[in-house]
Amino acid sequence: MQFNPEKCRIEDVPMKPFIDQDEIWDLINNTPSSKELVQRVIQKSLNKERLTMAEVAVLINADSPELIEEIKAGARELKERVYGNRIVLFAPLYVGNKCANNCTYCGFRSTNKEAVRKTLDKSELIKEVEALEDNGQKRLILVYGEHRDYSPEYIAESVRTVYGVKKGQGEIRRVNINAAPMEIEGYKIVKEAGIGTYQIFQETYHPEEYKKYHLAGQKADFDYRLTGLDRAQEAGVDDVGIGSLFGLYDWRFEVIGLVRHTNHLEACYNVGPHTISFPRITDAAGTNLTGEYFVSDKDFTRLVAILRLAVPYTGLILTAREPEHIRREVMRFGVSQIDGGTKIELGAYADSVNEDQNLNKEQFTINDNRSLGEVIEELLEDGYLPSFCTACYRNGRTGEHFMEFSVPGFIKKFCSPNAMLTLAEYLEDYAKPHIAKKGWDVIQKNIDKLKETAEPRVIEMLDDRLEQIRKGKRDLYF
Ligand code: SAM
Ligand code: SF4
Repeated sequence: MQFNPEKCRIEDVPMKPFIDQDEIWDLINNTPSSKELVQRVIQKSLNKERLTMAEVAVLINADSPELIEEIKAGARELKERVYGNRIVLFAPLYVGNKCANNCTYCGFRSTNKEAVRKTLDKSELIKEVEALEDNGQKRLILVYGEHRDYSPEYIAESVRTVYGVKKGQGEIRRVNINAAPMEIEGYKIVKEAGIGTYQIFQETYHPEEYKKYHLAGQKADFDYRLTGLDRAQEAGVDDVGIGSLFGLYDWRFEVIGLVRHTNHLEACYNVGPHTISFPRITDAAGTNLTGEYFVSDKDFTRLVAILRLAVPYTGLILTAREPEHIRREVMRFGVSQIDGGTKIELGAYADSVNEDQNLNKEQFTINDNRSLGEVIEELLEDGYLPSFCTACYRNGRTGEHFMEFSVPGFIKKFCSPNAMLTLAEYLEDYAKPHIAKKGWDVIQKNIDKLKETAEPRVIEMLDDRLEQIRKGKRDLYF
């Protein structure tokens, strides 16, 4: 789609083409920050309003340890208010790593002649999904290189295959996609297969820096990628995810770029992105990046807190690229989804013999190799409520409707009970006994907490459904 300023307006002012690097740098260089300004901006966010780019710049320019702590505390409070203590779990599933592009940071790039290229055939894909179901997974993100073999029809077919695999009590209830941008017709084809979110990461929002990292193939075209989710929206895919690969360029620029992309989507389609991802670059086969823009742990934890405050209603996704201790820390600032039991080598879920990472078979290094059970155990111990909920998507609560999130009581009525129901299924079907015990204790604690505010009818229905799950019934949700 061509950018259409007539259609895309914020408060009746037509938007400029949406990434203007001078505008972003001007905000970073010239926006003052102070304790008073930071507190005002945090308050706006706690009132559940999305921040403007200038307000985000106030947070970015708050450099002192005291103000950074204040921002992190604000993010923690917002997370509690909007998302409660749920953490949604998913797993990535790499379907094919052929790639015509040459992204210098990625092990799948076309010039990596050492890469072991593989596309799962149907029976291999089924085996992977069976192994994931055996672990208790219910939500997947399918990942593809960018190659003519991975046409919209091929992607749609693989999504259908995944939904069709039912092993024991297992089934995949939501399939998200991370693949190359398409034409409008292509998105319509994948939408038909019942996808959840379509994710495209812009990698860097800086057009010139972008060119340095994307040397060949379709992905070398910055604008085509930037408008990829506009075409998705035009095709009716109203559930989209954006992201930036931190470490390619100045993190402050990327944070404002993500906010810019968000307000562009809101202005044009009345709905912002469902999720924002903020992967930090990790080692990949044969990559030789200078590290000029590598983001330190200190800045990374800070930027997650800023993103949380910037876009109160958007899910934040944190992956196993990050090590355990960083995952644990930034989860407190408002991450809403994490992966667990992640393997990114093609075919690795079904092939339990080969546990070591081989970078020529993988896109990059992961730093959290724990099983799903171990991740869940830690979440339970830390007071979170692990969730495999897919109810909104299956009840059509996506796109503009997802803004129902702002309806008072939505979390109490839907999200928390559904988290408990899906956790209960996991505990009954897949958890080791000691984890099941911890899990049921956490469910009971959450019911007690919910009783303080939810209508008694909701609690009755929840108790009833939990009892049904204990008796073997599955897939109950509000
Ligand atoms: N090939 C498609 C693409 O590039 O959009 C889809 C998936 S790609 C496999 C998923 C994401 O992984 C990329 O968008 C990029 O942000 C991230 N990625 C690539 N190389 C990485 C690295 N070395 N470290 C961390 N993340 C990386
Ligand atoms: Fe291909 Fe995606 Fe890797 Fe780029 S990031 S080389 S498009 S798989």
